[in-house]
Amino acid sequence: EGEGAAAGGGAAEAAAPAEAAEFAVRPKVIFVLGGPGAGKGTQCEKIVKEYGFVHLSAGDLLRAERKSGSADGELIESYIKEGNIVPVEITVRLLEKAMLASGASKFLVDGFPRNEDNLLGWERLMGGKSDVEFVLFYDVDDSTREERLLGRSLTSGRSDDNIETIRKRFKVFRDEVRQRRQR
Ligand code: UDP
Ligand code: MG
Repeated sequence: EGEGAAAGGGAAEAAAPAEAAEFAVRPKVIFVLGGPGAGKGTQCEKIVKEYGFVHLSAGDLLRAERKSGSADGELIESYIKEGNIVPVEITVRLLEKAMLASGASKFLVDGFPRNEDNLLGWERLMGGKSDVEFVLFYDVDDSTREERLLGRSLTSGRSDDNIETIRKRFKVFRDEVRQRRQR
């Protein structure tokens, strides 16, 4: 790399988002977590109605990006299909872009962070310009969540709502999302 490389990372990403490039008001964020099928999205819809947050589902943003046919699309699908966690830079970039585009300052971030690397990535990229207020965690047992996901699979059209991927997602949730609670 030539001039400007000292800034490190992102030299190739010259194009800033077309919307505001930075936050007018320092955003407040609540992380909404829970296993696959815990009902995070459903509860977020209710909170939005009562309290006027903007709801951002990391999974929905990744699926939208995949559909857009961008360079990251195939990569994203390869992670989602296997129930694995997409590289944090991609997810945080999509979250920040959506936050800026909304013009809002209070966000429910649903389904992120999913592991320690996600959290460290968030802190590195967003820690300086946003405040995480707290985490809302929905604790629902595996069999209930599995039942819900299988029900949803009839209509969701999601490539990961099949029993094989559901089991992988549960394993990733046990091994990565909950790991800190067990230590
Ligand atoms: N995903 C990810 N990082 C995120 C959120 C989602 O990699 O921050 C991927 C991951 O492969 C996950 C899938 O997207 O299994 C679906 O996530 P979503 O939160 O939509 O599903 P849920 O777990 O709520 O059923
Ligand atoms: Mg969801």
